[in-house]
Amino acid sequence: MEILTTVSATRRFIAAHKQQGKTVGLVPTMGYLHQGHLSLVEGARKDNDVVVVSIFVNPTQFGPQEDLDRYPRDMEKDRNSCHQAGVDAIFMPSAAEMYQPGFDTWVQVGSVTETLCGASRPGHFRGVATVVTKLFNIVQPHRAYFGLKDFQQAVVIKKMVQDLNMPVEIVALPTVREEDGLAVSSRNEYLTPKERAQARVLYRALRAGKELILAGECQAQAIRKAMEDEINSVPAAKIDYVSVCDPTTLAEVDAIAPATLLALAVKIGDTRLIDNMLVEI
Ligand code: AMP
Repeated sequence: MEILTTVSATRRFIAAHKQQGKTVGLVPTMGYLHQGHLSLVEGARKDNDVVVVSIFVNPTQFGPQEDLDRYPRDMEKDRNSCHQAGVDAIFMPSAAEMYQPGFDTWVQVGSVTETLCGASRPGHFRGVATVVTKLFNIVQPHRAYFGLKDFQQAVVIKKMVQDLNMPVEIVALPTVREEDGLAVSSRNEYLTPKERAQARVLYRALRAGKELILAGECQAQAIRKAMEDEINSVPAAKIDYVSVCDPTTLAEVDAIAPATLLALAVKIGDTRLIDNMLVEI
């Protein structure tokens, strides 16, 4: 397994494989790899000859008050996980390699970045779209793999690729969960044992919303209220947003449609967690 830290070494690695007619799959991550990331690697492994995992805690997608400095890192463990998962190369540039002095070009996707996490984290998706564009330009993968745990991110990336004619296929894969339903996330690391137990409320709220829809409730407001009530039953949980929205536009809906996205962001103590569930009837 190659460890690539520069753009030029990565281009050489990719060119050598492409010359042999090999296909390349990219899995972009911020590291501290877990089963969610590894499910993407597995998907990429099945579809492509060469799998590249990027590990880069991208400063431009964090707000000034966010957790950039304390974001968990464990390079040794990530290296081993990638090695065992059959990854061909890790691209792990420094921030200086990715953002040279004077860097001043941004990719801004439109209305799908304005709701949900985009509303509570101004500039977040501009940072994501910009760094993913750079990763696509550096690695030039045939396919790139994203998790539906970050549903809005997958929508934003697909829109960007479509609108800007980027020659890459976006593959979005299901959320990997802990046994009790909590979505696996690097940020779960921040939770104390007590908060970890309280964090189960995110999945409970999504299930409650889904069950109401399946029972025939068609007013989105009633679903929102049921999810909010579930979350508010845990005093330590603070709602950032609870959304019942269209899975394509991410705009709030009034009535339940054949496909509806339930999405939420909740703070448990100091830790902001997100989760979502697509409900089809
Ligand atoms: P991150 O390192 O948090 O930026 O995540 C890198 C990629 O892994 C993103 O495409 C995420 O959506 C995906 N991912 C994170 N957690 C999960 C999960 N529990 N299940 C599936 N994919 C995930």
